Amino acid sequence: MDKMIMTPGPTEINEEVRMAMAKPITNPDLDLEFYEFYKDTTEKVQKLLNTKNDALILSGEGILGLEAACASLIEPGDRVLCIDNGIFGRGFGDFVNMYGGDCEYLSLDYRNPVDISKLEKFLEEDNDFKMATFVHCETPSGILNPAKEISRLLKKHNILTVMDAVSSVGGEPVDVDDWNVDIALGGSQKVLSAPPGITFLTVSDDAWDAMDNREAPIVGMYCNLTIWRGWYDKKWFPYTQPISDIYAFNKALEISLNDGEKYHRHEKIASATRNAIINSGLELYPNGGYSNTLTALCVPKGLDDKKIRKHLVDKYKIMIAGAFAALDGKVLRIGHMGENCREEKVYKTLKYLDKTFREFNVDLKSKIHEEFVKNLD
Ligand SMILES: *Cc1c(COP(=O)(O)O)cnc(C)c1O
Repeated sequence: MDKMIMTPGPTEINEEVRMAMAKPITNPDLDLEFYEFYKDTTEKVQKLLNTKNDALILSGEGILGLEAACASLIEPGDRVLCIDNGIFGRGFGDFVNMYGGDCEYLSLDYRNPVDISKLEKFLEEDNDFKMATFVHCETPSGILNPAKEISRLLKKHNILTVMDAVSSVGGEPVDVDDWNVDIALGGSQKVLSAPPGITFLTVSDDAWDAMDNREAPIVGMYCNLTIWRGWYDKKWFPYTQPISDIYAFNKALEISLNDGEKYHRHEKIASATRNAIINSGLELYPNGGYSNTLTALCVPKGLDDKKIRKHLVDKYKIMIAGAFAALDGKVLRIGHMGENCREEKVYKTLKYLDKTFREFNVDLKSKIHEEFVKNLD
């Protein structure tokens, strides 16, 4: 590979994970050993998310988890609160509407984490919701929401919680049982640094009860979580599992679980990156609540983010990301998550970002990569 992929997912993949994909395959529907391997994979998900809730692995990229949670819980006419302080938070509402829910948006500032006092006030006036959706790490803006406070507050009002933790799991602590999250979901290609293709979810007893007590049947099959019930006891999968993806995913989970330094490393590298951006005279997009899995910076005035990214990848073989929807053209994003959360990789990225900015005549106060090193300890 001649390019370095420093986007906030997909990320570069550990060689052991890549090799796991090449393992010989068996018939996953019939091989009882595979059921044990699969169960081990779900147990690793439970461990990483600190939960006793059932863990499911779905064949499909992260978005499938958002849709499956909405499809399985929402009945036509159900009132759903969609907490919107970013593009993914807002986007949840599309799935709510698609499945007939009556979606109420609580729209908040996109440059700050969810303000708990605003949510508190809102719920005092109106809390008659079956469920609420929110995002732990808003990847397009690099903001980490206070998931524990959000979830506990919603639960206090008997509202089911669905949390998108796609770009936080593995880089920020996620504590499903302690926070009381009914459905938490993640994807393989973000911090866990496995290939895209897997969604995982944890489902609480309350969430299962809500699915069991529906009046209208769940529409569709891939998004119906109840088809998974009893798969291990029955030794029966609802459809043939993508065995190579699961081999890789299991290895990626193992690497993450064995890495006792992961949260500390994400914090250290993210903090040094943010300081490097600020000290060189650039501006971070968030005004607070920074995620440790990526850094979003404002595109310097007068520049086109696509041209910067093209220059960086064509000339220096480093790929970073822009953003989309409401943030299109406004931010540049460096992923320092999972396998990319390494000092040498981030140093190299910042060194060539510095060069690129200078080639575009951006006036920098100091060298971004030198500031990074200074701020590492
Ligand atoms: C990446 C991501 C997803 C999955 O979305 P894709 O655009 O299909 O990669 C969902 N939620 C969040 C917060 C993500 O970062």
